[in-house]
Amino acid sequence: MACSNIQRPNYEKGLFLSIGMAYSYWNMIDLHCHSCFSDGLLRPDELIQRAILQGVKIFSLTDHDTLEGLSEFSQAKYEGQIQLIDGIEWSTLWKKKTIHVIALGIDRHEEEIKKLIDKQNQIRRLRAEDMGRRFEALGLFNAYQKACVLAGHENIGRPHFAQVLVQEGFVVDMAAAFKRYLGDGAQAFVKTDWLDLKTIIDVTKRSGGQAVIAHPSKYKWSATQLKAFIKVFKEWGGVGIEVVSGDTPLKVIEILASLSVQYDLLASSGSDFHGDGLSRVGIGKQARLPLKCKPIWQVWA
Ligand code: AMP
Ligand code: MN
Ligand code: MN
Ligand code: MN
Repeated sequence: MACSNIQRPNYEKGLFLSIGMAYSYWNMIDLHCHSCFSDGLLRPDELIQRAILQGVKIFSLTDHDTLEGLSEFSQAKYEGQIQLIDGIEWSTLWKKKTIHVIALGIDRHEEEIKKLIDKQNQIRRLRAEDMGRRFEALGLFNAYQKACVLAGHENIGRPHFAQVLVQEGFVVDMAAAFKRYLGDGAQAFVKTDWLDLKTIIDVTKRSGGQAVIAHPSKYKWSATQLKAFIKVFKEWGGVGIEVVSGDTPLKVIEILASLSVQYDLLASSGSDFHGDGLSRVGIGKQARLPLKCKPIWQVWA
């Protein structure tokens, strides 16, 4: 057993367990995670308890376009065990493309942010109803209502529909559901006019938070396109980039780390955990942030 990373001993320690040729590793940071208040399976309290067991010291809940789960996110209850950072994963639109932005360290009580969330929830609900009608035409009845029952709320996302499709025997798994019905341009896909990127960065800044580009490798951009996006994102006030997100391959992590240095962006790291069976990477089990990065958690240290 050995602690690595002597440069940042309080914020990121690696613990290696050698078991023959295999070893496992875990992080002390996880700044991207979903609860059952969006498309995750666990309650925020359960996520926090798992994070603590995992040895995570700084943890953020980043549900899609909602702050509802933060009502269970009580720093006072976990004082001395874990530092909780209020967060949200915004769906935004830039040049007609959906881009996710992680907002960290926001003030959950800010009126402006609440108003935008109401708007965004309305957009999400109309989209889900529209998707429900498309499923109706495809022979799957009451898909929207079934998704609401499954979710336990009306903040319905595509993964809820994917689970309904699996339950009803339309597809064998979620990957197939996205490929056939829910992915870009698939049969039940609905183009969505999310709030625009600039509005989201502005409100994030005004509520005291840091705007971070979520999973930059998931947008199917060339290096040139990603760099062009980063320039706009920075110009509008974005400060961070997710260098490590879920199961990002090590080669991609290296590229993103270099970009974070080149463009002077703070580096973030998260598992994007949604629940057992939904995610390949557990809480705090994403790869380590390369040493050359400037970790975003320095902001709250
Ligand atoms: P939505 O916010 O409703 O557009 O749903 C986006 C969510 O769908 C993401 O946050 C992931 O949780 C999930 N997702 C996106 N693509 C896939 C995929 N190919 N397979 C499984 N889940 C996916
Ligand atoms: Mn999700
Ligand atoms: Mn996302
Ligand atoms: Mn996410």
